[in-house]
Amino acid sequence: MLPEDVAALAAVVAGSVLLPGDVGYDDERAVFNLNHELVPAVIVVAQNAADVQAAVAFAADRHRPVLVKTTGHQMVGTASGAVVISTHLMNEVVIDTAGHKARVGAGALWAEVVAEAAKAGLAPLNGSNPTVGVSGYTLGGGLSPTLGRSHGYAADHVLSLEVVTADGELRHVDAESEPELFWALRGGKGNFAVVTALEFALFPVPRLYGGGLYFPGERMADVLRAWTAWHPGTPETMISSFAVLRLPPLPELPEPLRGAFTVSLRFAYTGTAEDGERLVAPLRTVAPAILDTVRDMPYSEVASIHNEPTEPLPYYERGIMLREFPEEAQEKLIELVGPESGTTMWIAELRALGGAWDREPAVANAVATRGLPYSLLGVEVGPLSQEKQLKESVAALLDGMAPWQSDRRLVNNLAPEEAPDAAVIYGPERYRRLAAAKSKYDPANMFRINHNVVPDRLNSRSAESPRAL
Ligand SMILES: Cc1cc2nc3c(=O)[nH]c(=O)nc-3n(C[C@H](O)[C@H](O)[C@H](O)COP(=O)(O)OP(=O)(O)OC[C@H]3O[C@@H](n4cnc5c(N)ncnc54)[C@H](O)[C@@H]3O)c2cc1C
Repeated sequence: MLPEDVAALAAVVAGSVLLPGDVGYDDERAVFNLNHELVPAVIVVAQNAADVQAAVAFAADRHRPVLVKTTGHQMVGTASGAVVISTHLMNEVVIDTAGHKARVGAGALWAEVVAEAAKAGLAPLNGSNPTVGVSGYTLGGGLSPTLGRSHGYAADHVLSLEVVTADGELRHVDAESEPELFWALRGGKGNFAVVTALEFALFPVPRLYGGGLYFPGERMADVLRAWTAWHPGTPETMISSFAVLRLPPLPELPEPLRGAFTVSLRFAYTGTAEDGERLVAPLRTVAPAILDTVRDMPYSEVASIHNEPTEPLPYYERGIMLREFPEEAQEKLIELVGPESGTTMWIAELRALGGAWDREPAVANAVATRGLPYSLLGVEVGPLSQEKQLKESVAALLDGMAPWQSDRRLVNNLAPEEAPDAAVIYGPERYRRLAAAKSKYDPANMFRINHNVVPDRLNSRSAESPRAL
């Protein structure tokens, strides 16, 4: 793309328009996973919805695909030849204290929303990592490991969206104005439009009892069995997960965790601290803990429960959902990532679901994973030169657990190369409905550099399929 091609675009955009070699181009194409590179033809750093409209119209005129980047936590493909719309400048957060809701720009991060909402004693359905973007997370379902079991998916509580569709139109989308688009966007992710703002419900949760109990990795079997027997009997206000961690000797980790092989139970309980302590007590006696961070805390400190990295790093991750987790599956997990496994896996994480995650929301949406009791994630960390080994390690875990795996999956947990799997993870009926909505709102598949829902009319044209990117 030549500078003169973009001059007219740059003239109308309030943000900036960047070509390869421009100052700022490299910063704007940077993503969270250092093993992933974007090489777009042009980047529009949008400052407002009009900038997004201009970028979409520019791409449409030139038959270029569009990739939306909020934080770059889950990129698909390299965006070679594409227009990237970077939304991080659109990060305003407005809390409606009386109405228990937030309106945020497309570029807002969970850390910003949690902090602002907490000032009003309110909390959103945020994820485990504070640097994840609200937009991609929510459109992909949004599985909150702190409030999801009691409230459901983040997508279930979206009240309205402001979006730019492939025709360049700015639309207000809610249950009344554009019901089918509203259904598809909440779960179908970035396939239908560029979201410029979201409005969603907040909940009166000023504090919680939560944190992590860390045990020696050698005690994995005892901890896993105890937790698996324990969590189904807990109230929906208690959310918990299990993780096997092989941590590097990083100075920012608390001393007992530096370089440790450990198993961790994570808790988020919104009842009283006394009840929380009583509920967690039996697990505290399973083995001697090497670290216990479970305590009463303001909701603003929620990120400390999972204590995930917030700076970009090189990694490979992939997640599935389990239909069930019987004794044989527990034994298999111990064999695959336990002390005798020989694996290098950084993180193997099992989240217990159920509760409100299983219930249909007031306004139905495209989230496909209701009724599935567990999510399982494998994360390996290492440079691109070790890509083959990292992928094989994650595959060994997930393939090993395949007998208990559901076809239905959360799009937020798919790896980049799993883009063609979109047709499977939604189930055939939901996918057909998504493809019909796609045909209506993005018939040329402009928004295809993602876990792509292919419009009906393009389904047989391989040149336009995501595999071609
Ligand atoms: C460390 C870590 C922790 C995580 N924890 C959780 C968790 O607890 N629960 C959970 O559900 N997920 C979790 N995720 C997955 C996360 O939700 C996805 O990676 C999500 O895509 C990140 O959203 P983002 O806005 O940062 O999007 P980006 O990575 O910037 O974008 C990913 C894709 O989302 C779509 N998208 C983003 N913004 C827009 C927009 N404005 N309009 C239209 N489409 C858009 C586009 O298709 C885009 O390509 C985690 C990921 C990581 C790396």
